[in-house]
Amino acid sequence: MKRNTWQREAVREALDGTEGFISAQALHSALHASGSPIGLATVYRALGDLASNGEADSLQSPEGEALYRACSTGHHHHLICRNCGLTVEIAADEVEAWAKRVAAEHGFTAAAHVVDVFGLCAECTAAQSAQSAPAAHASAADRHSHGT
Ligand SMILES: [Zn+2]
Ligand SMILES: [Zn+2]
Ligand SMILES: [Zn+2]
Repeated sequence: MKRNTWQREAVREALDGTEGFISAQALHSALHASGSPIGLATVYRALGDLASNGEADSLQSPEGEALYRACSTGHHHHLICRNCGLTVEIAADEVEAWAKRVAAEHGFTAAAHVVDVFGLCAECTAAQSAQSAPAAHASAADRHSHGT
């Protein structure tokens, strides 16, 4: 695992310094702006590595874009503001219990699930309340996995 070590460190550091989820392209732009010669393909690969090692979370936005974030380790869920990108890590005991139960009811083992909730945070809701736009939410898949 000697390969691309400094690039991976650079990507990890940039991700650590980012609030909320960010796309590979946006992270690449930020690295370039700070003077790094790192290539976009390398950023993609490094983010993929970090995600598969559990050092970063990855998920798909409702628009289908892959987004990444340096997250706490262990299984958890997210609330994500689709306007400002604010991300809150949430525990969801009901979801864990429900996922286990429905999997067992259908004879599934080693079940994993992904539940991320997109919406408008309180601040964005307040800012947009004048327009009375309904809050949007959706769930999206990512590579979260946890055992039974
Ligand atoms: Zn997370
Ligand atoms: Zn917001
Ligand atoms: Zn869960």
